This record gives sequence, structure tokens and C-alpha cells, in this order.
Amino acid sequence: MKSDPLDDLLEATRLLWSGSPELAGFVSWPDDLRRREVAANPIPACKLVAGWRDNLDPKTAQLHRCAVAASELANWQQTYTEAELGRSFLDRYGYFELIGQTGHFHSATCNAYIGYWAEHLHYPWHYHVAEELYFVLTGQARFESEGDPPAILTPNQARFHKSNQPHAMTTGDQPILTLILWRGAELDGFSRLSG
Ligand code: ZN
Repeated sequence: MKSDPLDDLLEATRLLWSGSPELAGFVSWPDDLRRREVAANPIPACKLVAGWRDNLDPKTAQLHRCAVAASELANWQQTYTEAELGRSFLDRYGYFELIGQTGHFHSATCNAYIGYWAEHLHYPWHYHVAEELYFVLTGQARFESEGDPPAILTPNQARFHKSNQPHAMTTGDQPILTLILWRGAELDGFSRLSG
């Protein structure tokens, strides 16, 4: 049987999620998943992820490799416009909804995204209603959130954002690939830039 890269990615996500107290403690693996037909949207970040094969962490390598393999089938998205963040930012960032109401696998219980930011990017302060957990798969970044001390996160480390808590992220010499979970209200909502 020919394996399907998006099914493989879902299974690798399930394995990491089930084995991680941070992920499983944030929200349970959804029990209402069903595959949706969602078109590929190969924005520039798609190729950057598709070519990322080095400096993998042993615990997250399987999920990373599955994200690489699924990259060109993924429905890549960007929340922001060129006027807000500039063309060079948009050429080097993107995410796709693996699980959620508009994702490759429908669930009404939570959202799960694969998110990518290239090196030397500043993702400015933003907020959203849903509660959020970032989980680093590969690379690293500096995370800031209002009321919390900033921290540099590396693979297998997580960071929680409360509902409407402003937060920002900055990459250094390395890009970052993350698994991002949303729970709570307004799972169909979007991030807005602060100020
Ligand atoms: Zn966020």
C-alpha cells in the first residue's frame, strides 16, 4: 500500500502528542478526526520546510520528517498581509492547519498547526482568543509573552499562551519548526497584531 504523507504526518503527531505530558496535558488527542479534501497551497515557506533535513532532534525527528514529506501537499497559510509584516517576512514564514475545523483533518475539539519561521525573523506582538501551546520540533527561538519572563525554547520545550495574552517570537541563527495547539473558545478565530 502506498502511504499517504498527510496520514503519516497525523500518525507521527499522534505518537509525539501521546508521549508528551505537555501536549497531552494541554488537550486530549481528538476522538472526532475525519480527513477533509484541502488543496495544497505551496507558498515560499513550503519549499524551505521541504528542504530541511539537518539538525533534527531524536524525539521529534519522525514528526519533522513527516512534515517535510507532507509540505508540498499542505494547505499553507499566512494570517498577515504584506502591509503588516513586509514581503521578506511573508516569504520566510507559514503554517498549516493539520487538525481543526478547516484543517486537513477535521476536529471540533482543538486545532493543531505546523508552523515555520526562518532564521532572523521577528514575529511581532500578537494575540488571539484561543489558548495556545507552542511545542518546538526543530531549531529554536526566543519567546516573549506579557507578564512572563522571556525564554529561548529548543526541541521538546513548550510555552503556554493564555487567552488574549500578547506574545511575540524571534528567531536567531536557526529557523524553527513548531507544533502549535489551540484549545478553548474561538478555534475559528485568527491572530491579530497588538497595537
Ligand atoms: Zn499565538
